[in-house]
Amino acid sequence: MKFQESCRAYLPKLSLYISGEAEEALCTEIERHLEVCENCRIVVDTLRKTILLYRTWGGQDLPEDTKERLYHILDIDTFLDEHDL
Ligand SMILES: [Zn+2]
Repeated sequence: MKFQESCRAYLPKLSLYISGEAEEALCTEIERHLEVCENCRIVVDTLRKTILLYRTWGGQDLPEDTKERLYHILDIDTFLDEHDL
């Protein structure tokens, strides 16, 4: 699996999308991309599950430093290495 060139533009914005900070126009744009891009769907799923797990077991939102580390995963090369994509 390889990220498309267009994904490089979307990946840094996915964290905003997941945290609900993205503008409506951006959400629409991202959702449209997710429909056609499996790789970005995996990124969104992975991040959502991590955040959800943390909320379930920790009973709270991610601390800022964890959030930053998590969003650092959106650095494509790191993500590709860690998930062997
Ligand atoms: Zn993509």
